[in-house]
Amino acid sequence: MYIKYGPDCAEPPVLPPVIHSSVTEQRVVQLMKDELYSLDNPGICLACGAYHSECEPDAEHYECEECGERQAFGAAFILCAGHYHKCTDPDTEV
Ligand SMILES: [Zn+2]
Repeated sequence: MYIKYGPDCAEPPVLPPVIHSSVTEQRVVQLMKDELYSLDNPGICLACGAYHSECEPDAEHYECEECGERQAFGAAFILCAGHYHKCTDPDTEV
């Protein structure tokens, strides 16, 4: 289906210019592991780094209760899309 953006349509949300420094590969992977043993749907706000417990795995641009930005994403989506800071310390176990 062809979707036309016009003055009546909201702008498509975009990613924050800088992903919060707390959103690391290690943190996202840990959230994914924790998810296996709980009923949580973990997510993170890419703008402020706040943890969200009610994000579906593929959640995109949910409103963050901490900062008000629509930058809360599901952990699985963040991992798949690569929206995190890669670990640069080779001694850090993931
Ligand atoms: Zn936030």
